[in-house]
Amino acid sequence: MTQTEDKITLSTEDTPLVPMEKIVSLSKRRGFVYPNSEIYGGVSGIYDFGPLGVELRNTIRRYWWWSMVQTNDNVVGIEGNIITHPRVWEASGHVENFVDRLVECKNCKRRFRIDQLPKENVEQNKCPVCGGELGEPRVFNLMMETYIGVVEGERTKTYLRGEACQNIYLDYDNVLKSSRLQIPFGICQIGKAFRNEVTPGNFLFRQREFEQWDLQFFVHPSEMQKWFDYWRERRFAWYKGIINHKDRLRLRPHGPDELAHYAKQAFDIEYRTVLGWQEWEGIHWRQDWDLSRHSQFSGQDLSYTDPETKERYIPWIVETSGGVDRTFLNLLLDAYEEEPPSGKDKEGRTVLRLHPWFAPVKVAVLPLQKNKEELVTTARDIHKRLQRLMVSQYDDVANIGRRYRRQDEIGTPFCVTVDFQTLEDQTVTVRERDGMTQVRLHINELPAYLLERVMWNYS
Ligand code: ATP
Repeated sequence: MTQTEDKITLSTEDTPLVPMEKIVSLSKRRGFVYPNSEIYGGVSGIYDFGPLGVELRNTIRRYWWWSMVQTNDNVVGIEGNIITHPRVWEASGHVENFVDRLVECKNCKRRFRIDQLPKENVEQNKCPVCGGELGEPRVFNLMMETYIGVVEGERTKTYLRGEACQNIYLDYDNVLKSSRLQIPFGICQIGKAFRNEVTPGNFLFRQREFEQWDLQFFVHPSEMQKWFDYWRERRFAWYKGIINHKDRLRLRPHGPDELAHYAKQAFDIEYRTVLGWQEWEGIHWRQDWDLSRHSQFSGQDLSYTDPETKERYIPWIVETSGGVDRTFLNLLLDAYEEEPPSGKDKEGRTVLRLHPWFAPVKVAVLPLQKNKEELVTTARDIHKRLQRLMVSQYDDVANIGRRYRRQDEIGTPFCVTVDFQTLEDQTVTVRERDGMTQVRLHINELPAYLLERVMWNYS
């Protein structure tokens, strides 16, 4: 459900849920997210990312990659293409089954996905907004079509991939043959996916072009349950580790009516926002479905031979599938806070309490005054040194309090201020975003002090 009121609402646990409008407005004002093709009126469900947005996306991608690929010896990464052979989407079932069923209200003309309507509205054929009568369901395929080739009549119709993970199945055999991996092992990928969503909306939550991340973990069938449990717990802990509001995260098992025919079980990792409890990542029991289908459709044998026992089998797969965009959105919704005036800050402030790892700008370097040349030169010099290690911003516009607030609003965890004492003893103040506490450090101590706090893999 979309929240339209421009005020913070209280959830049942009395914790404030941030209205989407606050995030949409901050995103545009400060350069996180812009509507795509805005000067032409925009395209629904398609967005561009601004200077801060692209930094945030990079940190999100890097952290996922670091924890899934870089630090697991039995997991490797690939980068597959958006366009593939069209048969891929027949084998995957997308051409036939990747559909949404939609109903339109005869009175207010709003459209709803049947699977997202409350049960009583489906049973009574009643619009959940105005109570009007709902029309006949219509079926829409979500795949976006495109063509390979230039000569009319000789062009081949194919699709922009509807899910990124298919490349992993396509490259599975090549990865196996070109590396020394043995089952159990995993392949990861981050990449764009495209869906003609029939009800795009809720800002970045449901877009037509978005970026997914997947792990496909290949196992012997006898070890499926063990690895399914393992990755479910690891992925849940991963999400718990990156948010402030831990009580807004849950694991929801799929009911029997939601399970694919080959799946013994499935879970959604869900996060609660003004949209209610919504999927953030899916943990799926894919069994041998994908590799068997691609074996069948391509005519290539994708079975695996155990090097020791010589047993031959199609590996079973545990899939964890989430994405950059919902992580981006949920992190902003989780981190956004409007603080009332207090002893430390007389005007009140908006603060993004992002984990320092994710902050688009890690440090801001601020000369106390911009009309004192020595302060400016020293601050610029510090900024240049820090820039080699992390994203640093130099800012000398407006008074120092205003500059702190500007940085708080975009989540910058540390501000380094160069003042008159700096010129005497080479020390600076480091102000920390959340508690607004300050410490005084020698300039040479800054790199280690900051790296320790902003890098997840620093020790
Ligand atoms: P939903 O039920 O919300 O439509 P889904 O079950 O179709 O999602 P999957 O196909 O399992 O989603 O995709 C895996 C992940 O990709 C989701 O958990 C989500 O993080 C992301 N995702 C899927 N569709 C979108 C979209 N339209 N916009 C942004 N992210 C998406």
